Amino acid sequence: MTSHNGAAFRWPDGVRAAASFTFDVDAESCVLVHDPAASGRMSLMGHQSYGPRVGVPRLLRLLERQEVRATFFVPGFTAECYPDIVRAIIDGGHEIGHHGYLHERMQGIDAVTEAGYLDRGLDALERVCGERPEGYRAPWWEMNWHTPRLLAERGFGYDSSLLDDDMPYRMAVVGPGSASMIEIPVDWALDDWEQYAFYPGWTGSGVIESPEKALEMWLLEARARHAEGGCFVLTNHPFLSGRPAKAHALERLIEQVKHLDGMWVAPLREIAAHAERVCGPARVHERLRAEASPAPESR
Ligand SMILES: [Zn+2]
Repeated sequence: MTSHNGAAFRWPDGVRAAASFTFDVDAESCVLVHDPAASGRMSLMGHQSYGPRVGVPRLLRLLERQEVRATFFVPGFTAECYPDIVRAIIDGGHEIGHHGYLHERMQGIDAVTEAGYLDRGLDALERVCGERPEGYRAPWWEMNWHTPRLLAERGFGYDSSLLDDDMPYRMAVVGPGSASMIEIPVDWALDDWEQYAFYPGWTGSGVIESPEKALEMWLLEARARHAEGGCFVLTNHPFLSGRPAKAHALERLIEQVKHLDGMWVAPLREIAAHAERVCGPARVHERLRAEASPAPESR
């Protein structure tokens, strides 16, 4: 049992800590949402399509070898462009989650606009997968205060986009006494974008880190969370971590994490289902409002 913010969180019997390997299959969507004209850049489009075309098949073979099931968050546009890849993910026993339609920018948008993105993504995933996803991950992990309500209205059981904890918890979707859903938090230090992403004029500083360094960082975090009885959630992008040396490092990480004593490796929806059974009262998020300091009096 782990004491956590005054509430007890108990993993299933025999389990000491949990880990989930998650893959955000952004492909071309996260580029095109900024600039539809980027579709004319053949090399950039290829850099992104490497994810579903080459990265995902390699990662699926890796996960099969390791006998690990994972969660893949797929924008609706990606699902429409690569339906066979999405079906291969499902056939591998993995979970498909919602990740926007075109990986839309969420900052500052109103609830009606955001609901439109959610519904368009849901329609696409339902058409390709034949079932509704249970989980949501906001593009760029960018949630608005109205997002939990929109997710609950659409029957999502969990979200994995917030950064305010390192254990799953129950969150109220509106306020005290409202419906609730499970949140499984993420961490920028556990995302491969910061380690590996670089494309001139699009993203990254030009530094592409060694997979050895990423492996070391992520293993340290996995061990620390294991020691605390915590939850380790890693986010990888197939157009990055689906490349050879990075995938090899990831496989070594998975091998070591799954052999930590009492470590439960599962797709997020299974961790969310467990959390739904054991989490205590819902946490109510309250928006802070700061008043600007008065301007200095002019003399
Ligand atoms: Zn993404």
